Amino acid sequence: MGLFGESGMVHTFKFGQILGFLTVTPRGHTVISKVSDLIDPGTGNWDRDLVQDIFWEVDAKHILSIPLSRNTEDLLAWHFDEKGLFSVKSAYHVLHDKERRNQGRQEGGTSRAGGGSCSDWKKIWSLNCQPKIKQFVWRLAKNSLPWRRSIVRRGMQIDTRCPMCWRFDEDGGHCFLKCKWVKHCWRDMNLEGVRLRLTEAGNAAQMMQLILSLDEEEKMKTISLLYAWWAARNKANVGEQKDTTNEIVYRANMMLTDGSGRCSKGQVRSPNRKQNWSCPPDGILKLNCDAGFLQNEKSGSWGFVVRDSDGHGVLAGMGRLHNVPDVLCAEGYACLNALQAAREYGVSSLQLELDSLLLEKCLKTGEYDRSQGGGLFHEIRELIRLYFNSVEIVHVPRSCNRCAHELAKLSMRWDPDHSRVWSDPLPEPVNSLALGDLTDCTDE
Ligand SMILES: [Zn+2]
Repeated sequence: MGLFGESGMVHTFKFGQILGFLTVTPRGHTVISKVSDLIDPGTGNWDRDLVQDIFWEVDAKHILSIPLSRNTEDLLAWHFDEKGLFSVKSAYHVLHDKERRNQGRQEGGTSRAGGGSCSDWKKIWSLNCQPKIKQFVWRLAKNSLPWRRSIVRRGMQIDTRCPMCWRFDEDGGHCFLKCKWVKHCWRDMNLEGVRLRLTEAGNAAQMMQLILSLDEEEKMKTISLLYAWWAARNKANVGEQKDTTNEIVYRANMMLTDGSGRCSKGQVRSPNRKQNWSCPPDGILKLNCDAGFLQNEKSGSWGFVVRDSDGHGVLAGMGRLHNVPDVLCAEGYACLNALQAAREYGVSSLQLELDSLLLEKCLKTGEYDRSQGGGLFHEIRELIRLYFNSVEIVHVPRSCNRCAHELAKLSMRWDPDHSRVWSDPLPEPVNSLALGDLTDCTDE
């Protein structure tokens, strides 16, 4: 929902107010999902043209009148809370209200929900296709594919014309619905009626809602076409020879008929039906963390991921530990680093899943406070006490902690003390790992 800016760039303003506008009055097909996209990275001020392009005049004026503070990056004011402090709970209420409002409008028959509700994300995860295609559909729904116009908005100077037709600027609406060549493809797949209906959607999330509400056959045909088109577009985008529309349509149809776009249930399910990671309840974030340890070198690594109730990764990190006495301390560092990152990100309540029974005990009791890692466990408890409203610590089997485990394993190759933390949108490989857990759990 774009609570946090791109690459940590967050500004002080009445975000909820803008959020309201975003859902109420977008005009075209390129609705921005993050407020930071509306800010000119060069000047730190509103991107006037873009705001005026996207919103109706009266709203554009209002938005442009909201002052942006330049010297207070990384500060987030949340006007739904009297102290301007963000909490997951208040965010949840805001979202909930928004959804109710949208539902009201839907029932009135004037507009469809604008934000992409939880049930839509679940529908995406349960599509009968490969994870990479789900990932693509999800990015499309979030309006986060790297169209040339979105890249320019992030401050890179490139030609914004569509790499397929070189006639118009490339945004989501042009790329998938209006480009001269994509129209050929829609027609060739007998989907012109669907295309016309999609052009009426007000933004990417609405477009996805329409797609998800199609009957199974049309829905899969549409998704295959969009995916095949995007693949062809990416080839053209890097200067490779452009596929003909026939080739693109052929590939989309192949995805449908030979099943290369689908995966059989048998492939997805683990053979002995291990327990899998599950999404937290609505409005709750779940943090999974894990550590690696090399006995001979006395060194280790850590990894963590925070996901929401749709299984979408909002925060992740990993790093290499230089000097660690034992595996329990490595686990402790993983937990500490994860909680510190979550705190800096503004999370105040979460479920914390660990696969170390011993660490769980260390954190819940003071029994190990005199052990080597004693100081560490104490520090974690203090961190929770001072900065979190609630942290529910749960022990889970390793099969429920794979994403964090993989991140810890990957960072084992890094230089000592090197670490990274990412916030939404997570980088591709990390996202895939987070999704890997989910693919299995939705297919159960
Ligand atoms: Zn074009």
